[in-house]
Amino acid sequence: MSSDRRIACPFGQSSPKPAIFLLPCTVLENIVTFRDFNFNEQLMEGVLSMGFVTPTPIQAEAIPIIAAGDDIIACAQTGTGKTGAYLLPVLEHISKSNRHQINTLILAPTRELAQQIDQQVEGLAYFTGVTSIAIFGGGDGIAYEQQRRGIENNVNIIIATPGRLIAHLNSGVLKLNHLSHLILDEADRMLDMGFYDDIMKIVSYLPKKRQTLLFSATMPGRIRTLAKTILNHPKQVNIALSQPAVGIDQQIYKVHDPQKTPLLLSLLKNGGYTSVLIFASKKDLVKSLARDLKSAHINTSAFHSDLEQREREELLLAFKNRQLPVIVGTDALSRGIDVEGIDLVINYDVPGDPEDYVHRIGRTARAETTGTAITFVNHRDERRLKSIEQLIEKPIRLMEVPDSLKGIADKPAEHSANRRPNGNRRWGNNNNKSQGKSRQQ
Ligand code: AMP
Repeated sequence: MSSDRRIACPFGQSSPKPAIFLLPCTVLENIVTFRDFNFNEQLMEGVLSMGFVTPTPIQAEAIPIIAAGDDIIACAQTGTGKTGAYLLPVLEHISKSNRHQINTLILAPTRELAQQIDQQVEGLAYFTGVTSIAIFGGGDGIAYEQQRRGIENNVNIIIATPGRLIAHLNSGVLKLNHLSHLILDEADRMLDMGFYDDIMKIVSYLPKKRQTLLFSATMPGRIRTLAKTILNHPKQVNIALSQPAVGIDQQIYKVHDPQKTPLLLSLLKNGGYTSVLIFASKKDLVKSLARDLKSAHINTSAFHSDLEQREREELLLAFKNRQLPVIVGTDALSRGIDVEGIDLVINYDVPGDPEDYVHRIGRTARAETTGTAITFVNHRDERRLKSIEQLIEKPIRLMEVPDSLKGIADKPAEHSANRRPNGNRRWGNNNNKSQGKSRQQ
């Protein structure tokens, strides 16, 4: 990642708008490759086989701190390379310690994230012999049995969602008294999902003398309170990808609602994209959009909370393997889905939380590639667009609605109800001269 990327982390701030820091370049100048961390050869083989050459900023900064045994509180989002930042020093530590006990517990908010972390462990630890298991709810009795057997075989790393981990702790099978590392990944999301009590219960089973690493995309007061309770004199790492990756070409179309689906079809049919994620905020909309796209002969599946875990996994695997070119999903898709080569993200509507916009579009242009993120903005979403532009600190490029769609008007009642008092804002025909050009100019 380039060293001049602007990075932000709201440590110590109550304001929702984060302070902007420039990356401490001295750190990056001193660390040129992963060789500088002096990892053992087997671990280095894993690093190279994963295609990692240069540490990302979070890795450059966090790895030496974790390797020195300090607790850490890091502000880092998915897409920054945070998983490698905590896994690599921990794997190095496990390689040198007793392999016959559970050494590390990683807590994650969702099954999808737990599985992705497990995949990174498998890749990075492939040549080291370090073992891991992902433990999450859902599934059948067989899955629970497999998890139980994995625990009994003393895997080295457990990656778990809090609820299912507690079930295994309660059953008495799982003993964590030799644990050396506790890692909380996406801690803010875990608190959003109501896992605070579960986390505290899990911590009560752990030895007091341990290393604790807390990673969070945002740093609200609740996270700092949690950190005070479970971390020991943590070092802070002020790196986060709160600005979208530079490789993302961000665009908006100002449209009436009836123009959205025809515009979507036009972009998908004429854009030459091969791997596309479409986000919509409501489950019913996701389902109806997927139906519309299928009727237009676009191979699409819908991702939402009504799907069984097995169905979700099959769908994501097909997408990853390029058998399925388009997924329509709710924001459940926007966190932690780590698929390389997504060339287009479409926001069918503007997310209410500007951070969600960054999460959604961060699914494209992963790890230094490029991609396009297109957002449809109707008159009701204008305010949300402003908040996003404030967060990312730049205007998003306004594109021109194709001529063939300009005749599609908004519903009359809605149109008049939302007409602005000064009457000068027009949606969906984009008569604005700056169309297709940056509004920054
Ligand atoms: P994460 O933020 O941990 O979810 O990582 C995002 C993506 O970046 C994953 O696909 C990683 O495999 C990839 N990645 C992590 N670290 C590096 C690195 N140093 N060089 C290249 N890719 C990386």
